Amino acid sequence: MKKFLNEFKEFAMKGNMIDMSIGVVIGAAFGKIVTGLTDCIITPLIALIIGAIFHVETTDQLFGAITVGPFPIGQLISTIIDFLITAVVLFAIVKAINEIQSLGHHEEEPAAPTTKVCPYCKSEIAIDAVKCPHCTSDVE
Ligand SMILES: [Zn+2]
Repeated sequence: MKKFLNEFKEFAMKGNMIDMSIGVVIGAAFGKIVTGLTDCIITPLIALIIGAIFHVETTDQLFGAITVGPFPIGQLISTIIDFLITAVVLFAIVKAINEIQSLGHHEEEPAAPTTKVCPYCKSEIAIDAVKCPHCTSDVE
């Protein structure tokens, strides 16, 4: 039990709890936005298209009308549409965040060499030296 508590403390201290709470709150709020979007735009659009074929006028008529035997699958379809939009948008957000994070982690360009090795005494000398300070040979 003590081990469990310690692990929990470590987990909580690492900030994962905070990240997770923020994620849950944003996720919940975001879910409402997506539901709103679906209810206000996507569903009426579908209702408009399908309504032109099946003569339904409201979303309730559309999804309420879709039943298979005793199962009102219309609501399920609505929920699936919600889920798909949420998944796509979340994927886009995660992808964007990953790209932003990877920007900060670019591999540093290897620094230009500042020294060279003298061909005569093999000492390390300045890259632009014309005379070796160790053996006094002329170098390029
Ligand atoms: Zn030298």
